[in-house]
Amino acid sequence: MNDIRVRYAPSPTGQPHIGNIRTAFFNWLYARHNGGKFVVRIEDTDQERLVEGAYEGILEALSWLNIDWDEGPDKGGPFGPYLQSERLEVYNSAANILITKGVGYYCFCDRDRLNNLRKQQQENKSDIKYDRKCLNLSNDEIEQNLSNNIPHVIRYKIPADNTIQLNDIVRDEVEWNTNLLDDFVLIKSDGFPTYHLANVVDDHSMNISHVLRAEEWLPSTPRHLLLYDALGYEPPQFGHLPMILGPDRSKLSKRHGATSILEYRDLGYLPEAVINFMVLLGWSIDDHTEIINRQEMVKLFDLGRVGKPAAVFDIDKLDWMNGNYIRDLSDEDLFEHVKHACIGEFGENIVDQYSDRLTKMTPLISPRMKYVTDAPDMVSYILTDNLSVEKEFIETCKLSSSDITIALTATIKYVQEEIDFSKDTLESEMRIICGQLEYSPRNYFGLIRNVLTSRSATPPLFDIMEILGPRDTLSRLDNALKLFQ
Ligand code: GLU
Repeated sequence: MNDIRVRYAPSPTGQPHIGNIRTAFFNWLYARHNGGKFVVRIEDTDQERLVEGAYEGILEALSWLNIDWDEGPDKGGPFGPYLQSERLEVYNSAANILITKGVGYYCFCDRDRLNNLRKQQQENKSDIKYDRKCLNLSNDEIEQNLSNNIPHVIRYKIPADNTIQLNDIVRDEVEWNTNLLDDFVLIKSDGFPTYHLANVVDDHSMNISHVLRAEEWLPSTPRHLLLYDALGYEPPQFGHLPMILGPDRSKLSKRHGATSILEYRDLGYLPEAVINFMVLLGWSIDDHTEIINRQEMVKLFDLGRVGKPAAVFDIDKLDWMNGNYIRDLSDEDLFEHVKHACIGEFGENIVDQYSDRLTKMTPLISPRMKYVTDAPDMVSYILTDNLSVEKEFIETCKLSSSDITIALTATIKYVQEEIDFSKDTLESEMRIICGQLEYSPRNYFGLIRNVLTSRSATPPLFDIMEILGPRDTLSRLDNALKLFQ
């Protein structure tokens, strides 16, 4: 039996960002590489910070990136429930064990007292710590307070003068002195556990073998190790993943680009590009390989190659990667993305009506696409039979009005007679017309491009003409000519 069990334990306090999902993905890779299990557990114990839609957003982000989970709140599993708010008895009984062992104690201090205490400590420049006023309450006092329903929390009594050691998979040896720690809360006044207690109890009861999480949780780890010890649990192995910084080396934030993972989807990034970009935020196979497909990632993922230094988030690299992945898609797969983006922009009817044109256009726009969402704008002029083009725009081709009339008249005549409307024939015949009229190809083909597409940059003109077909080409040329007569 393989006992590698890892978990992603987000708090539904907002939409998941790249840092959260990088953690999820590294856990997923570790599980898949080792044939272990990847568990999703929702840590919703901070009732005040819950954000509506965050839970759904987390699962949707994972699904969009094809990060599948073996156990989780929506699908259950042998260690469920996987939503902490449904496991309150488990935490309460752990807290009771700690009280019985003399390391957990009731605290009835109210918010005002704690605020004043903090203020005083700040003024005296002493450590900000709970002063243990309630540590030695008698059983009678406790019973009386409880029966009077005095709001209370349960705290953990930090042992004095201990050194706590961690051998972290990523950060190696880390040590803390317990004198620096405060008697932290285990159960809050609303009856919910704190992150520390719930996290430890669940990692133990869900048989988690490795806790791979962001470095920001490293300072919480000594508290967790104390709890493992006090509860008589074997701690899992810990690996704290490097921070992710913006290109200016400050903490990654909204101003460095989109922060919610689903925003990347909406901006037109492909999931595989985001995955590839994300895996390099802290892991590598060597010092130069950038494009790595998911299969290789699963095959090669190794915690030994997770670096200690902070990873730098570079949106230009993500853009570059996205372009790469777009060009790597088969025409059929790219078409599905293009179609989806166009339905969002123009509606299903239009896309169905011009589906043939869109299919032919897809490989032509791929070289210039940076985002999937570029597609609607790049194809809009073929998804209509009535393109209207401004006279002023047509004139940007640099031919005079009379030359425009001559060129359009000659082209219309040619198009009316051409039977073979294939791009090769169109190209060779229109080059002859251009030569006969003695216009520079740039100006002449610029004119035809302006008229047929209302754009100055498009895929090759003759491909566009073939896609539009003789009837639509002719009507666009006719309409343009009318503007000059
Ligand atoms: N609930 C914590 C979070 O939101 C989990 C941290 C951990 O993995 O221990 O990230």
